[in-house]
Parts: sequence; C-alpha cells; structure tokens
Amino acid sequence: MPTPPSYADVESAATRLEGHAHRTPVLTSRRVDGEIGAKLFFKCENFQRMGAFKFRGAFNALAQFDSEQRRAGVVTYSSGNHAQAVALAARILGIPATIVMPHDAPAGKLAATMEYGAQIVAYDRYTENREEIGQELAAERGLTLVPPYDHPDVIAGQGTAVKELIEDVGELDALFVCLGGGGLLSGSTLAARALSPSCRIYGVEPEAGDDGLRSLRTGSIVHIETPRTIADGAQTQHLGELPFEIIRRDVDDIHTATDAELVEAMRVFAATLKIVVEPTGCLAFAAVRRLGKALAGQRVGVVVSGGNIDLDRYAAMLAGPWNTRS
Ligand SMILES: *Cc1c(COP(=O)(O)O)cnc(C)c1O
Repeated sequence: MPTPPSYADVESAATRLEGHAHRTPVLTSRRVDGEIGAKLFFKCENFQRMGAFKFRGAFNALAQFDSEQRRAGVVTYSSGNHAQAVALAARILGIPATIVMPHDAPAGKLAATMEYGAQIVAYDRYTENREEIGQELAAERGLTLVPPYDHPDVIAGQGTAVKELIEDVGELDALFVCLGGGGLLSGSTLAARALSPSCRIYGVEPEAGDDGLRSLRTGSIVHIETPRTIADGAQTQHLGELPFEIIRRDVDDIHTATDAELVEAMRVFAATLKIVVEPTGCLAFAAVRRLGKALAGQRVGVVVSGGNIDLDRYAAMLAGPWNTRS
C-alpha cells in the first residue's frame, strides 16, 4: 500500500488546481444559525466544476500522469460524480478516458459523462465487482486506474476544499464531512488538522450503510452489502485503505443520517440557502441538524459535497413518501 498523503500534498494539489477548479463560495444563513444555535459555514462544492468536489481529486491525479500514461489513457469506476470528474479532467488534459459505471446510475450523471467524451462500460452494481472490471481493463489496455477514493493524489485533491474553507472563514470548532469511501473525509482531515488543530472532525454516512462507523469502532475496515439509500454517492461497501489510515488517526467520530433526514436537509437547502443539493451532499448538514443543541455556540464547517441530481427525481423526493408534513 502506498503511504497516505500529508498536508504538504494538499498544498501541492491546491497549486495544481489553480486556474482549473473553482474556489467555491462559503454560504451562511442567519436563519439556519438561529434554528441550530450555532454559526454554520457551508462550503458549497455543488458549485464546483461538474457539480461536485470530485473534480479536485481527479484533476490532481490526472495532472501528474507522465507522457506514456497520458497517451494510453485513464480508466475508473464510479456511480457518477467521480466518473464525470475524471471525464472532465481527462478532456481538459487531452487524455482518453474509459469509465465503468452502474447501468442504473442517474441518467443525468450518465449523460454528462458521455458529453465529456468518455467511453462508458456498464455493469450491475448489485451483482458485479466494479473494482475487478476496472483492474481488468487497466491490465488489458495499459490504462492507468484512478479509483474514486483509495489513491493519495485523489485524497490530496479532495482536501483542497476544506483548506479553502478554513482559509476563508478562520478556525472552526467542528467540521462535518459526508462519507462514502473516505476520500473527501480523509483529505478534509489533513487540511483541518493543519489549519485548525483543535477542530473536532466528524464523518457522516447513510444510516443504511454504517460501515465507516463500525470500522472506526473496531479498528479495521468493515465490508457491507451495497446499502440501499437515496445517497447514491455514498453507496460504498467499505472505506478505502488509505483514507482509513487517516480517518482512524484523526477523525473524532462518525454520525449517520436517514433518508428522511436527507430529504429534510435538502428542503432547507432549497428553501433557505436557495441551493440544489443532491442527497449525498446533504449528509453533513443532516447530522448537524440532528445534533442541534449539542453544537450550541460553536463555529461549525459543513461540507456540501455536490448538487448533481435529475430534477424529476429531486421534485419527487421533496414531494414524496419522505415528506412527513401534511
Ligand atoms: C463521492 C461523493 C461523496 C463521498 O465521497 P468519498 O470520497 O467517497 O467519501 C459524497 N458526496 C458526493 C456528492 C459525492 O459525489
């Protein structure tokens, strides 16, 4: 296993991303602060290029390919946002891209990935192993595999979002980051530990797939079946080994959120902050809302990881069975 990246790697990634990734805005809301009783800073990666933080890690990894790797191309597997991120980064850098995607990936994510010019290989996420398919393609065609989270350059790139957040708003008492395979949480942890050393750092994963929580508790990576949740960006079966090294060392705890809580958070994002956030992007805020009073008086960073969702699905969620209001 390669060694986990350090904060110096996050700094190098930030330099590489300059002029390519957006420095996304940090939103605040007096109304939401008043409801929670804390000062919340929302780092809005739904405004990142291709609509999620994943552009940061993908671009940081692909920008370091040598000329032979660039010529042969990149391969990856992803349920959506990492696919779009690799496809866009590859197009910018002139590298051919092959993406292994579940056949039931959200239509908008599939379409966007194709629009960026990538070749798509479909698989069944409930019966086939995407990692094996990606590795086979890499071996057969001489492609370089850039996985969605278990890679030092991906982790370092993801860390640049929280680096920007703390540079922009100052030190935090607590930071909440959504958790799938752990690329974003581990990169964020590197940045937070360096720039706001006493900040408590929390991952948030879907309640239907609490493998991260169980991994942190037991000290080794827990594998689960693909969890059934609307948070499709966090339907991972296990944490990555490199992210887990960092998470186990420096993350304080992991919280969970139910699908109903994600929809409620999505509703507040739309109604109050006026932003469209995909279910996975609501995890951190959902946990903050559940904790409520426990965070009273604190300065809290909330990573809003992405905003890619089909509008029909979005509307159905806000109107649908998760809506407990009359
Ligand atoms: C990928 C993704 C996540 C989870 O990130 P990991 O690095 O796998 O933990 C969260 N939110 C969105 C929007 C994503 O695309």
